[in-house]
Amino acid sequence: MTPSNQENLLSRSEELFIKSRQIFPGGVSSPVRAFKAVGGTPPFIDHGSGCHIWDVDQNEYIDFVLSYGPHILGHNDPDVLKALCDTAQKGISFGAPTELELRLGEMIRSAFPLMERLRFVNSGTEATMAAIRVARGHTGRSQIVKFEGAYHGHADSLLVKAGSGAATFGVPDSGGVPESLARETIVLPYNNPQAVRDLFNKQGDSIACAIVEPIAGNMGVIVPDDEFLRELRTQTSDHGSILIADEVMTGFRQTYGGVQILFSFEPDMTTLGKIIGGGLPIGAYGGSKEIMRHVAPEGPVYQAGTLSGNPVTMACGVATLQKLKTPALYSLLEEKSRLLTDGILNIVKNLGIPARINRMGSMMTLFFSAEPVRDWASAAKCDTELFSYFFRECLKEGLYLPPSQFEAFFLSTCHDDDIVKQSVNKFQNALLKTKEWMEKGRPEHH
Ligand code: PMP
Repeated sequence: MTPSNQENLLSRSEELFIKSRQIFPGGVSSPVRAFKAVGGTPPFIDHGSGCHIWDVDQNEYIDFVLSYGPHILGHNDPDVLKALCDTAQKGISFGAPTELELRLGEMIRSAFPLMERLRFVNSGTEATMAAIRVARGHTGRSQIVKFEGAYHGHADSLLVKAGSGAATFGVPDSGGVPESLARETIVLPYNNPQAVRDLFNKQGDSIACAIVEPIAGNMGVIVPDDEFLRELRTQTSDHGSILIADEVMTGFRQTYGGVQILFSFEPDMTTLGKIIGGGLPIGAYGGSKEIMRHVAPEGPVYQAGTLSGNPVTMACGVATLQKLKTPALYSLLEEKSRLLTDGILNIVKNLGIPARINRMGSMMTLFFSAEPVRDWASAAKCDTELFSYFFRECLKEGLYLPPSQFEAFFLSTCHDDDIVKQSVNKFQNALLKTKEWMEKGRPEHH
């Protein structure tokens, strides 16, 4: 059943959400899931298959969230599922080295040759937190540079002017982060080579590292100009600072490997997550032998994890990467993503809605803005009220999008031509309603 025109569309979800709010802050385990930015009740998901998910009220959705990126093969890919079940039957975790861990490590290193040594952790947050610790350990410096609107997980040093959920709620600086620590984080505008040059000329010799999403995904998608990444590489090299490419979202998303391959961008360290775990919790960080020899037990920078490298996650990662090697997989994803975005752009143009899409491969954002979006300042000008209305109409149509203007949406290999065509029709209905609402002078505030 698709959700359109249903009475009590989310009645079971509503019941569960009321109870969940008595257990979890905001009723959720991660803030964006609470739908605070867009309003309404989040559907509680019962199950998924391929590119579809179903909620507890039996509404069916075409899923463009895909667990915020990991499910590039869609939900419950049979080979990933088989690897998961077969491995779990042999024991879920031992806190000891396994052969599967080595296999996934070798696969990642062959796709990211600059990660000569790497370590598995359990989330993207852990990966970036550890990478920064290693960069500080390596350089003996404490200051770090991040970019406005970028999100690198919720480690204290990185929750300064962060994107994603933090941006969505308009509180880019988190409570609970000591000022003394926040002061060590320098924030620059994204996609601005001059700002990079100015900062490094002034104080480059006291900067331990710069961390960058080589394609931003957490203020919505922004593909930076070549010159920005080039300047960042030059300045960090010239001043002996470590350059960290945070490819948690982009790793294996646009190509078999990272954006660093596509853009010939050579970071000193890389962080990964999401896709490499095939949908199970994972992160990884790595870099040159020289840098990674600081990590315990080889060196003095401590970092550990009870469940790190557990065989079940490793098996799902191996099965996923094996499938991603299929020839033409990424060009097919590109084609379908183009079909979808062309379809949506055609509709917004015909309707005269001020909106645009930033996209790289199967990762994209529809921004409700008449102006190009190329940094946080321009992203923040988007019409988030219009996005929220559009989002709720999409949900009624059976399109499950990330509940924020400042997130990426994704396609999987299961979104075939037919699904894309169905989706474009549904987007058309949602955009028509959005246009009507705009023209009526935004009468309703949900
Ligand atoms: N870095 C980037 C670029 C991310 O997109 C994310 C999560 N969306 C993270 C780090 C944090 O990863 P996790 O949620 O697994 O901690």
